[in-house]
Amino acid sequence: MLSVYLIFNLIILMKVLVATDKAFAPHAISQIRILIEAAGYEYLLLENYRDVSELVTAVFDADALIVRSDMVTAEVLDAAKKLRIVVRAGAGYDNLDLASCTAHNVVAMNTPGQNSNAVAELAFELMLYQVRGGFSGQSGTELRGKTIGLHGFGNVGKYVADIAKGFGMDIYAYDPLVSERVMKNHGVKQCNHSEELYLKCQFISIHLPSNDITKKSIGYELMRRMPKNAVIVNTARKEVIDETGLLKIFEKRTDFSYLSDVEPDCKAVFEKKYKGRFIFTAKKMGAQTEEANINAGVAAARQIVDYFKTGSEKFRVNK
Ligand code: NAD
Repeated sequence: MLSVYLIFNLIILMKVLVATDKAFAPHAISQIRILIEAAGYEYLLLENYRDVSELVTAVFDADALIVRSDMVTAEVLDAAKKLRIVVRAGAGYDNLDLASCTAHNVVAMNTPGQNSNAVAELAFELMLYQVRGGFSGQSGTELRGKTIGLHGFGNVGKYVADIAKGFGMDIYAYDPLVSERVMKNHGVKQCNHSEELYLKCQFISIHLPSNDITKKSIGYELMRRMPKNAVIVNTARKEVIDETGLLKIFEKRTDFSYLSDVEPDCKAVFEKKYKGRFIFTAKKMGAQTEEANINAGVAAARQIVDYFKTGSEKFRVNK
């Protein structure tokens, strides 16, 4: 017997809007399009838009929406009269207003794990550039034999551990939801609390989600414990850092570096006072590889097709 979803799908031509203010790589776009059209849906694209009003207009008759870091707010959802599903092509979904999605009967999903390797590689790109003094010609240091602590041991943290092993680093992690056995399988030693992690590790790589518990959770009290020539690399979210504490540690310790995928709010102070001790990407770069774009974009399109054809709500993040 035909499922309700299939009948609905046969009668109505679904519209899937890909809306990204920071465009996917061209190869990713063409693969997403092929997948959507092969399923019999109409493909719509809004790329590099400058104002939310463009998204509000474009989403009007879309049944499904794929976004990247674009804000899906109550305003966008109010305008989307037919919307049934929104998929964030990426891991973090703090750009989706989940309560509003639920109130509008919209299923919200992410695509976990699809861009993790790209983010992990960026963490090393930042660390290597920093320890070699920005390739300035001065003598730098190596990663081999140094301690690295992974704050959060989910999809990205695991890739970072695997790469760190190749560099010959001594790897620790703190994640209350991951067992010692899983960490051991990746060659990682478990810490029982975050203080222990920061105390042990010269390099800390942050891989936490941004939520009510983690926001501003990494501040002076943790940072001050770190060994000499401490480096924090943050490819997660700027919100997890307590920037007042960050500025305090920079004031007190000249051996401290902070590397971050996106600029912190206190960037101007860094530029004025702490040249050479920070790297901030101007735009979020973690998932900006062709491979990650294809993985996450195609996964998002597949999840939409599966949802319409079978009702599958795997990777749903709202209740
Ligand atoms: P994930 O959900 O797979 O892993 C997060 C891990 O953090 C989980 O294992 C969880 O148990 C752990 N955790 C949660 N709260 C914790 C706490 N208080 N203390 C210790 N551990 C805690 O997520 P992921 O895919 O590994 O992503 C990690 C971070 O990287 C997220 O913030 C995500 O948004 C970000 N990210 C950034 C980019 C980028 O472009 N820079 C791309 C992908 C992901």
